[in-house]
Amino acid sequence: MGRLVPDAATAPATAWQLTTVERVTVETYRAKTFTLRLAEPRPFRAGQHYDVRLTAPDGYQAQRSYSVASAPDDCARIDLTVELIPDGEVSPYFHEMVEPGDVLEVRGPIGGPFTWTPDLAGPLLLLAGGSGIVPLKSILMHRDLAAPDTPALLLYSARGPEDIIYRKFLDGAGRRNSCVAVRCALTRRQPPGWIGYSRRVDAVMVRECIDELMTMHGSDAVPLAYACGPTGFVETAADALLSVGVAESAIRTERFGPTQ
Ligand SMILES: Cc1cc2nc3c(=O)[nH]c(=O)nc-3n(C[C@H](O)[C@H](O)[C@H](O)COP(=O)(O)OP(=O)(O)OC[C@H]3O[C@@H](n4cnc5c(N)ncnc54)[C@H](O)[C@@H]3O)c2cc1C
Repeated sequence: MGRLVPDAATAPATAWQLTTVERVTVETYRAKTFTLRLAEPRPFRAGQHYDVRLTAPDGYQAQRSYSVASAPDDCARIDLTVELIPDGEVSPYFHEMVEPGDVLEVRGPIGGPFTWTPDLAGPLLLLAGGSGIVPLKSILMHRDLAAPDTPALLLYSARGPEDIIYRKFLDGAGRRNSCVAVRCALTRRQPPGWIGYSRRVDAVMVRECIDELMTMHGSDAVPLAYACGPTGFVETAADALLSVGVAESAIRTERFGPTQ
């Protein structure tokens, strides 16, 4: 695909807006964060996403959804983190072509059930597979600012240490607040001395995380669970949650793509 440019003339004025790329941050060898300055800031909830629409000079358009990684406390600037799918259409464009100063066409915020607001309280059990960490980071950041006493445990499944997105933020999360814990499952490659999980997420792991969350919380309150990532990850995580007794009504899911 050639270089794509926003086509404001054909965009529905009510929904789409032009946004300027302010910064590009390399997160991992296949994840970059794009900080966008919105011309029309709109309040959003942690967990929501934006649609991005690219238009080629010949009019061909491609549209994809990307979750907001930043906290809703600043709705004028949003972070979108895009994981590179090598044979994909839109994510390689982001990785190879999009630079600070570029203008992109976006629509949002979008999304209802997969959101968290402080009134929903917790404790929160956040299950992320790969780039599924993106909206959960927004939830964690919002929790830090708006409800720091809400206990939260993030279980993050990644292939290897070099695939961990937001490493610095996650390393500091537990240190910043004793109500937050981060557990990692590295499914394919583990560094020497690795003491985290070394397998895919399963019911035993989820049970252990719930037990840890209950100990942190000092009660047996059933957590509110959010699972996000590739379809296969989300289905496994949801089944595991149900099998250890979390009610369906307490489980929220967001699927990013096909089975891993
Ligand atoms: C609500 C929502 C929020 C999302 N948020 C994010 C986000 O924050 N960050 C992010 O990187 N992506 C996110 N996605 C996925 C994103 O919308 C695209 O699907 C993804 O970037 C791939 O687009 P592409 O054009 O590069 O690949 P495509 O051209 O659409 O697909 C190319 C090939 O890759 C496969 N594929 C597509 N998506 C995935 C995937 N996620 N994992 C593995 N294989 C895949 C396809 O089946 C196809 O074979 C989200 C999706 C949804 C529905």
